[in-house]
Amino acid sequence: MQNIWTVNPYRGCEFGCKYCYARYAHEFMELRDPELFERKIYAKRFEPAAFRAELQRLKRGETVWIGTATDPYQPAERRFQIMRRILGVFAGERGLDIGITTKSDLVVRDAEVLARIARQNRVRVNLTITTLDESLARLLEPRAPRPSLRLGAVRKLADAGIPVCVLAHPVMPLINDSEHSLDRVCAAAAKYGAVAFSAAPLFLKPCSQQVFFPFLEERFPHLVRKYRERFERNAFLRGQYPEMIQERVKKIRERYKLAARDAGEWPLDDQLDLFSPEYTEFNRRPACESA
Ligand code: SF4
Repeated sequence: MQNIWTVNPYRGCEFGCKYCYARYAHEFMELRDPELFERKIYAKRFEPAAFRAELQRLKRGETVWIGTATDPYQPAERRFQIMRRILGVFAGERGLDIGITTKSDLVVRDAEVLARIARQNRVRVNLTITTLDESLARLLEPRAPRPSLRLGAVRKLADAGIPVCVLAHPVMPLINDSEHSLDRVCAAAAKYGAVAFSAAPLFLKPCSQQVFFPFLEERFPHLVRKYRERFERNAFLRGQYPEMIQERVKKIRERYKLAARDAGEWPLDDQLDLFSPEYTEFNRRPACESA
């Protein structure tokens, strides 16, 4: 099996999605409060020459996913510009399979360099849009760009010739899992030029439960018992529900003639990190400055 490599320029993520599975990443830094994940952000030190040398370890055709444990285009990117410099290095490579996952329209800043990289490599961008309901998105993903901005990014990337997959991850029972909600996202994805659409059910590891359950208590108190019953036993939903969602998503995707997210998905564990372990640490600015 081919290696899948990951690149995460930041540790922690200012977008602060209530369901975020990546909060565990701060536990490695002995930061046990799961909310610190969105307040204490670490920007990794980037050395183009060292990164270029790291890339020499890859075989032709191997996959590199950027943004598996934080959003690479979160607000910190405006200040640190690490993604821009990473892509500058990729622009000199050939034969790689590069994927980027983000919720931010800031990715369009790099559309031109991505198009350049795509001439010598395979490139695709996953844009996550969990709902088109802007008020619901604001609750679930408090500091992420609005869904309409993300759709605008889909259009601009598609116009630049970059294949885009819209991900409606995660699908949360009785929150964004209705046929209507998923259909709206998929219809918009097709309209704005995406080539693929995927969605998979929520999973909630204990560190994520510590944020998600209090959020439910505040905003969706009628769902608390059901969620606790299911997720306290197992972080992953099993049985009929995931099968039903898979079937629903497949049907919707066929309706709009979009592809599924292609192979080369990253494993949640067992990743090979391509990046320096040294950081610059900073605290998120007040919400009004970072939004
Ligand atoms: S954008 Fe991704 S990494 Fe950032 S908080 Fe949301 S789910 Fe977590």
